[in-house]
Amino acid sequence: MTGKDLPALNIADLQSLLRHREVSPREVLDVLQARIESVDGKIDAYLSIDFEAAAKEAEKANVDLPLGGVPIAIKDIISVSGESCTCASKILRGYLAPYDATVIRKLRAAGAIPFGKTNMDEFAMGSSTENSGVKLTRNPWDLSRVPGGSSGGSAAAVAADEAFGGLGTETGGSIRQPAALSGVVGLKPSYGRVSRFGVVAFASSLDQVGTLTKTVRDSAMIMNAIAGHDPQETTSLNEPVPDYTEELGKDLRGARLGLAKEYMIEGIDPQVKTAIDAAVKHMDSLGAEIIDVSLPHTDYAIAVYYILATAEASANLARFDGVRYGHRAEHPRDLLDHYGRTREEGFGPEVKRRIILGTYVLSSGYYDAYYLRAQKVRELIRQDFAKAFEKVDALISPTSPVPAFKLGERTDDPLQMYLADIFTSPANLAGICGISVPCGFADVDGHRLPIGLQLLGKALDEARILQIAHAYEQSTDWHKARSPIAATLPNA
Ligand code: GLN
Repeated sequence: MTGKDLPALNIADLQSLLRHREVSPREVLDVLQARIESVDGKIDAYLSIDFEAAAKEAEKANVDLPLGGVPIAIKDIISVSGESCTCASKILRGYLAPYDATVIRKLRAAGAIPFGKTNMDEFAMGSSTENSGVKLTRNPWDLSRVPGGSSGGSAAAVAADEAFGGLGTETGGSIRQPAALSGVVGLKPSYGRVSRFGVVAFASSLDQVGTLTKTVRDSAMIMNAIAGHDPQETTSLNEPVPDYTEELGKDLRGARLGLAKEYMIEGIDPQVKTAIDAAVKHMDSLGAEIIDVSLPHTDYAIAVYYILATAEASANLARFDGVRYGHRAEHPRDLLDHYGRTREEGFGPEVKRRIILGTYVLSSGYYDAYYLRAQKVRELIRQDFAKAFEKVDALISPTSPVPAFKLGERTDDPLQMYLADIFTSPANLAGICGISVPCGFADVDGHRLPIGLQLLGKALDEARILQIAHAYEQSTDWHKARSPIAATLPNA
């Protein structure tokens, strides 16, 4: 193992080298920094990196801890004490987080080193990272395409071997969809499984922190560190946390996997459909039982999601008023002018669209017709899943109906962009967990574009979907494929 090969490692392998003192945390960090300096000019996954703070932590890292000495990239919506936290918004330019989010505190307790803040759609609103108020991030498999979003920076960093693993957040698919489009593993835990304390709120009844990693095992390792009750966060669940790595290694025999007919819609890219069909067949051949199920309210999910998410966002984003954080308009005439111009200057177009939509659906006269009705349909979607999980252990579907699209291809058509969440947002509405794992490639214009397989599980059943995803992953070679930009390094 030469220093240059280190960035290709997954977390489990890296941690084992660290624990056996074959490499030091400081060496790892230096190699990673060199790697980022050589490729991030092409990918633009990171918004800011505090090398000095990380180096200090590396010097005192305890490599005998489960994630001891492992650097982890952090989506720029999660507070890391003393570090910039902008949510890729101009309105938070210059804002430094005054404390660690609970997930960061827990990562540190497990020995990990938060390292670098990654690009995202502004305030996590988007599916391509193109809504970032700072810059575009490119897909490591084809630089003319998006990495997905909103956690596109973390996904691209992992796919380009510029991070060993990362944290992302989801409200409607922002971990699983970029994982699928960038060819990595993305886990969205159940609502309440991981604390949101210190994470900037988008839609509080949907938001959840999760992982972007090279392998399923790495995701389980990070979950072991970050999951669990947090007395500082009222929606975090006070339930025991299993060891998520314990069941990895079990095979697929007897696993009951549900195929929802509503998820095999027209409009799925034919190459995506072929890959998912093949994955289902493969799991069948490994002893899983494939069962047809129905999720009859699927059609309403996108509409319900965009009513509830915008309503909650309009309330959450009221706090960015130029008084307390970040950007502040100059020479205001009076207080209203101060608020108005600060927000006009600070928020990008998609964020404004959401605030306006959200304010509208909550306004008197429309509240019952939109918000209240959406809440009722949300309950029906929840019941669809509850019924399906009476018959199956997990549901299988594509993560995204299409592989990575071209930069700029959907930016003029917000509705088209919203449809990217068609298979992911129902899980957020229902509060259940989901994972995306690589399951093949589409050949498009001479590029290999990754395809993601989604597995959905009951609330708090992360261990089960991790086990199923791991069994699938380990019986295929998809996770070993490396993006062209990652493959410019010699193999580990
Ligand atoms: N793409 C969805 C949206 O724009 C989901 C975003 C997310 O999960 N944060 O709202």
